[in-house]
Order: sequence, then C-alpha cells, then structure tokens
Amino acid sequence: MIPPVRPLGDFPLSRSALDRDQLSRSADGFVAAALTDPRSRIVRLGAGRMRVRQNALVLEQVSEADAAEAGSAVYLGRTVDDDGDIDAGTPILLLASAEAGDDDERTGVQWLSPRDMAHLLSDRDAGIASEAAAVAAWHRSSRFCSNCGTETVVRNAGWMRACPNCGVDHFPRTDPAVIVRIVHDDRILLGSSALWPEGRYSLLAGFVEAGESIEAAVLREVEEESGMRLASPTYLGSQPWPFPRSLMLGYHAELAPDQDPDAISRDEEELDDVRWFSREELLASDSRVTLPGPTSIARAIIDDWLRGDERQ
Ligand SMILES: [Zn+2]
Repeated sequence: MIPPVRPLGDFPLSRSALDRDQLSRSADGFVAAALTDPRSRIVRLGAGRMRVRQNALVLEQVSEADAAEAGSAVYLGRTVDDDGDIDAGTPILLLASAEAGDDDERTGVQWLSPRDMAHLLSDRDAGIASEAAAVAAWHRSSRFCSNCGTETVVRNAGWMRACPNCGVDHFPRTDPAVIVRIVHDDRILLGSSALWPEGRYSLLAGFVEAGESIEAAVLREVEEESGMRLASPTYLGSQPWPFPRSLMLGYHAELAPDQDPDAISRDEEELDDVRWFSREELLASDSRVTLPGPTSIARAIIDDWLRGDERQ
C-alpha cells in the first residue's frame, strides 16, 4: 500500500510568534493607552508595503504624532519572546496609510510587500506582516456599512467597524480558496493562467463558492479547469494570503481510478495551458517553466513534491 502524504506546515505566511491578545481589544481606551506606553512598537504599512531592513520589519517606537492616531491604529497583539531590543509582552500596533514612504539608502530601510519578502522574515515578523496586511486591507474596503451604506466607526482596537445608523457590527473577512497538487505516475498537473507571463505554471486553485464545502470546491475547481476527476483529496495545510483577504487551503490528490490522465479539457477562459510535468522537466537547468514565488503555498507544496519526500 502507498503510504499517505505528509501534512505540511510552516508556510512562509503561516508562521507567527505573536499573542493576538483578543481579550484586551474590547477594553475602553485600550489603543489610546497602548499608544502612550513607551514599550509599544508601531509597524507602518503604506499601499500594502511595510518598512523592512535586513530581512526584519522595522518596529518603531511610538512618536507624539502617532499617539494622536488612536482612532485608526490597530492592535495586533503582544510579542511572546524576548528578541533583541524588543522584550516579550511588547504591544505591537499597526498604522496604515494609502501611500508608502520612500526607501532610505542611508539606513537601508525599504518599503516592501510581504508577498515578496515574507519568506525571509522571522516567525514573529512573518506573523505581524500577515496580520497587518490582512486587517489593513479589510479597513481599506470597509469604510461604509454593507447593510445601509452609512460610514462606519472603528471599534475593538481596530478589529470591528460599527454602523452608527443600523447597528450592524462588521468584522474582518477571509475568503477561503483551495489549491491542489494533483499527481499521477510521478508527474504533477500544473496550469498557466491567462493573466500570467508565458512559461509561468502553478497548481490549480480557486475560491470556495457561497454555500459550498471545501471538499466539494476541490473537486469542482479541478474538474472545471482541467477536466480531471479526483480520488479523495488529502488536506496538507493552510496559509493566509492577505492580498487582499484569502486563506489558501492546500490539498494533495490523485486521479479517480477511471480517469484518463490524457483526457485534459482546459478551461480556456482562465488558463492558457494545463499539462503534466515530470520532476526532471521542472528541475532542468534549461527549464523554461517559472514556478510561483517563494512566499506562496503553491511553491512550498510543489517543492515538497520535487524533493520526492511527500509521503510519510
Ligand atoms: Zn448600517
């Protein structure tokens, strides 16, 4: 019998070493007090990018100007471990703006998206980056009540927006999406999106639809995109993808016993190509295939298969 596939963890943006400290969020004046606490640190986010120096987030001390931002700051939580000049228990707050600042050659500070650099960060900073990107994206799109259109008011240390007109409370949302490694006869099925540069291939993926189970979404998405019917998929692990608000759920699957692997029927609107690749083809030094970037769950799941140690 073939041994089962191994679950995967520690995807770049799944890591964290921050205590989200949810119970503190609803206390009156919590953020205002945290912004005057000299231990607190600020992470700044502008247009989805964050300040990074030497593969670490820049966690600044609170300035006087920051202390006036209690209405828009978000409390991300407390650090768990001592790390350099930041002690365990340090409150971390997010201040987000529409624009990123300028890179500073003198200090080496750059404004970068976690999408491009999260794999280089420590667990603590990766967790902060993922949380900050997700909650900032939610605020950007949630200024008005989706129930009645009235401008909403930030509450709960940035984790709720309350409507003063109809009384509905709004919370950050996450859109689940499935991403599937399909393997048959030592080959992997990859697709190339119509929106990507030529030669870029990745796992088949798609959003879970309203009223649909995750398991049904895996089978539906793969059949829609490639025509392949699968045998019972195995869950591998998840990674938040806060660009702007996805949660990627990774699966491994083999073909249904009566499925002909050559009977590929591509979704011509979404994909320019779907085909099987051998390890040799993907690993060849002259390979023309570009795989997804190193922060993506797709890359981690593909790499696990390329190493050939995906089974327990
Ligand atoms: Zn409302």
